Amino acid sequence: MSRHCDVIVVGSGIGGLCCGALCARGGRDVLVLEAHSQPGGAAHGFTRSGYHFESGPSLWSGLGRWPSSNPLAQILRALDQPLEVISYRDWDVIFPEGHLRIGVGSTDFEAVVSDLRSPAVAQEWRSFMEVLQPIAAAADALPLLALRPGADVMGQLLRRGSQLLPHLAAMRHLGGAFAPLVDKHLSDPFLRHWVDLLCFLISGMPMADTNAAAMATLFGEWFDPEASLDYPKGGSAAVAAALVRGLEAHGGQLQLRCSVRRVLLEGERAVGVELENGEQIRADHVVSNADIWSTLELLPQESVQRWQRKRAQTPACQSFLHLHLGFDATGLEDLPIHTVWVGDWERGITADRNAAVFSVPSVLDPSMAPAGRHVLHAYTPANEPWDPWSSLQRGSAAYEQLKRERCSLFWQVLEQRIPDIRDRCDVVMEGTPLSHRHFLGVHKGSYGPALSAADGLFPGVTTPLEGFWMCGASTFPGIGIPPVAASGALAANGILGRKAQQELLESLSL
Ligand SMILES: Cc1cc2nc3c(=O)[nH]c(=O)nc-3n(C[C@H](O)[C@H](O)[C@H](O)COP(=O)(O)OP(=O)(O)OC[C@H]3O[C@@H](n4cnc5c(N)ncnc54)[C@H](O)[C@@H]3O)c2cc1C
Repeated sequence: MSRHCDVIVVGSGIGGLCCGALCARGGRDVLVLEAHSQPGGAAHGFTRSGYHFESGPSLWSGLGRWPSSNPLAQILRALDQPLEVISYRDWDVIFPEGHLRIGVGSTDFEAVVSDLRSPAVAQEWRSFMEVLQPIAAAADALPLLALRPGADVMGQLLRRGSQLLPHLAAMRHLGGAFAPLVDKHLSDPFLRHWVDLLCFLISGMPMADTNAAAMATLFGEWFDPEASLDYPKGGSAAVAAALVRGLEAHGGQLQLRCSVRRVLLEGERAVGVELENGEQIRADHVVSNADIWSTLELLPQESVQRWQRKRAQTPACQSFLHLHLGFDATGLEDLPIHTVWVGDWERGITADRNAAVFSVPSVLDPSMAPAGRHVLHAYTPANEPWDPWSSLQRGSAAYEQLKRERCSLFWQVLEQRIPDIRDRCDVVMEGTPLSHRHFLGVHKGSYGPALSAADGLFPGVTTPLEGFWMCGASTFPGIGIPPVAASGALAANGILGRKAQQELLESLSL
């Protein structure tokens, strides 16, 4: 007889782990199945020669204080899994305007803007923050964990009526794109480029396509006078490990190196999964944390054809180039944790090899590298086209040559700051969209769906198949750590039902 559990989650990305851990907390027998050897999906860590490398996220916030509007912080608290974070404020940018040290916190940023542009432009920024403040407050008043898929949205809103009433005017901005607000309130080119860059780093799309609620929340957090960013001690791997601990503490299980081949259906109901080795596991609920294109490959073509056809047309964000380095830290005492480089604003923020992010987490957390060394992860954020790579084989001469050419960008930028960087390295790993697809398990190495906020919200976590759910970057509220954590909670809310959700919200005083 085949094995049976209440909930199977396909994929241990942050969305899948949040969903699995919350379902386990709600008393369900949960099994999370992950194809890769490490949990965390885009946010996994790996070790080489004593260096702890990161595969994805570098910017984390809202994890170091409570209360927090970050759904990941809320979920970790519900799971009783505190996370040690190192707070910081400053990072560097290398822009066409010059090399600047910028940071979160309104006054520091205004001082930079005032010097670079003028006091009047700094005032323009301050006024924009004032416009965003009620929108951020409106987003805050409706915590994502309070939503339950499939339930009557009006009813859910009415239940929170008294909390939402003061925010009604600002709420109309929450569903749409950020650009109309920026167009109305910002005219200075530097400020507009800055906002466009942050939108692109968050959503993989420019401000015209990025959700206003997400950006208002981010600006609310980052430009609060007391703001700080939080680096999780131990990096992404520590976050994934905390969620796995939360899953296992409630009796759930994670199985690594375990690829799901297909979802088993009976009629239009999901009843389990089949693994690559042929083993079948039955379940009452199956949740796919894989991206939408990979999820569709798990389903028989003949089921729910209209939904499948529609979702198969989802446009994809571009992919990434990566550079991972381990290097000698001697004499580099004032390195920032992050440097964001933009080549030419006129090419547009989405242009290929026009923006790159460099992170050196060992600056804050020395345990990430051997003594006296630094660990670096650089990436071009969702601006590397897939097509030139699609027909190449990893390891072939043509692939290696294209990789050298495309990744030369990282070295050019790094050599501006550390001229002898190549001589300092004892570990060098360059990555391409093919490596990204291989190690992060995403279709065409994409950042996720390129769904414009101007056209509406991301699809929810429900599907037309009974017992089959989705969570992660292909579902509402979209790409990024806080959104995927929220999507995991939404799927868990749907599976566990109203009473369990109510208990969760009460336990967090939300
Ligand atoms: C380079 C980079 C930098 C980023 N920087 C930031 C940042 O600074 N801040 C931020 O908030 N966000 C950032 N993000 C975005 C954020 O990391 C992602 O949006 C988020 O981690 C995606 O989580 P997810 O739940 O969608 O799952 P994913 O991470 O996509 O994980 C899905 C998992 O499912 C597994 N899987 C797929 N198919 C199967 C199958 N058939 N069987 C078993 N397992 C399967 C995959 O192996 C994978 O582990 C970054 C992303 C990248 C790539």
